[in-house]
Amino acid sequence: MRVARRIATVPPYLFAALDRQKAAAIARGVDVIPLGIGDPDLPTPEPVVARMRQAVGVPAHHRYPDYEGSPAFRQACAAYMRRRFGVELDPAGPPRGEVAALIGAKEGLAHIVWAFVDPGDVVLCPDPGYPVYATHTRFCGGEPFTLPLRAERGFLPDLDAVPAEVARRAKILFLNYPNNPTGAVADLGFFERAVDFCRRYDILLCHDSAYVEITYDGFRAPSVLEVPGARDVAIEFHTLSKPFNMTGWRIGFACGSSAACAALGVVKSNTDSGPFTAVQEAASEALALPPEVLEAQLEVYRRRRDLMVGALRQAGIAAEPPRGSIYLWCPVPAGETSEGFAARLLDESGVFVTPGTGYGPQGEGYFRISLTCPDARLEEAADRIATLRPAVSAR
Ligand SMILES: *Cc1c(COP(=O)(O)O)cnc(C)c1O
Repeated sequence: MRVARRIATVPPYLFAALDRQKAAAIARGVDVIPLGIGDPDLPTPEPVVARMRQAVGVPAHHRYPDYEGSPAFRQACAAYMRRRFGVELDPAGPPRGEVAALIGAKEGLAHIVWAFVDPGDVVLCPDPGYPVYATHTRFCGGEPFTLPLRAERGFLPDLDAVPAEVARRAKILFLNYPNNPTGAVADLGFFERAVDFCRRYDILLCHDSAYVEITYDGFRAPSVLEVPGARDVAIEFHTLSKPFNMTGWRIGFACGSSAACAALGVVKSNTDSGPFTAVQEAASEALALPPEVLEAQLEVYRRRRDLMVGALRQAGIAAEPPRGSIYLWCPVPAGETSEGFAARLLDESGVFVTPGTGYGPQGEGYFRISLTCPDARLEEAADRIATLRPAVSAR
């Protein structure tokens, strides 16, 4: 068999190697606590499950869904964007529609690249970052240009540092705030500068909003579409996965630029046939839930965050509480590498975390802890981390 060259453009999947390390530890009898993957352990809210039970019995839902999402779902998305961000969107279908259903945000983030990137085009990709942005850029023959995210800049990229000739060749700028993996947040001022930059160079701003509902300490994350005129240059990707514990349901939506939604629709209508209509109904129910549902859940994550930060500090690790997301992004002890420390943590304490290099070379020197683990197990992990031996020596 001769697979396509583009398959070889994907770096060897670090996470597959990590899974093997984890499986080997479990086989040795180690009681492994997985804090690697960001997959919420809490259940989907009951009203959403109830709506799904009812919707799955409707024969009309057993047929092909509408490509761009059902009108009722697009309206529910628009109503959510109005209520939550004060952003008015046209929920019509293409070509003027500003909302499109997705089979999860990951699907939309992948396909938007196919809709905009030709061979040789540049895509501005944050590093560390969600790997989908750069991987699909390479699949399309494009060139990812690294935007390093550094602690001293609050993990925001320095857009002024992008050379003008690179910016002119760029088709897409990917941003993601609240950020995976760093937990950093961005305010509207940052989005204003990003919209200006994209307008100046005719770049599509793709904002991955996966964690927009997961913030702490009084911070409320904005939508990039709150910037006046942003919809001329921006499309935003929302998902039900993280806020409503619906990772397995595969549902999200894109909104903003009607031209970008339409171009995305061309790729999608030739690839998939939209999310199951019953899932869209259940998701509409989720988007209309009262804010208390999310608030109660944030309280769970906040408690877990503070517990884990305390344990890490006891172990001499300079952990900072993030203002958003479900992750802690922490420096590894001096003299250790990301992968070395993650392996040692697994060996010595059975706690499984992801090395920062899983999110790009700039992640070297960090590791990521996910808070999506039941309280009792997370407490056990915190106890084990707090008593972790210091590094044997600087390696
Ligand atoms: C989880 C995640 C997604 C994907 O969400 P789905 O809707 O489940 O596909 C997208 N972006 C980031 C940064 C994520 O962490």
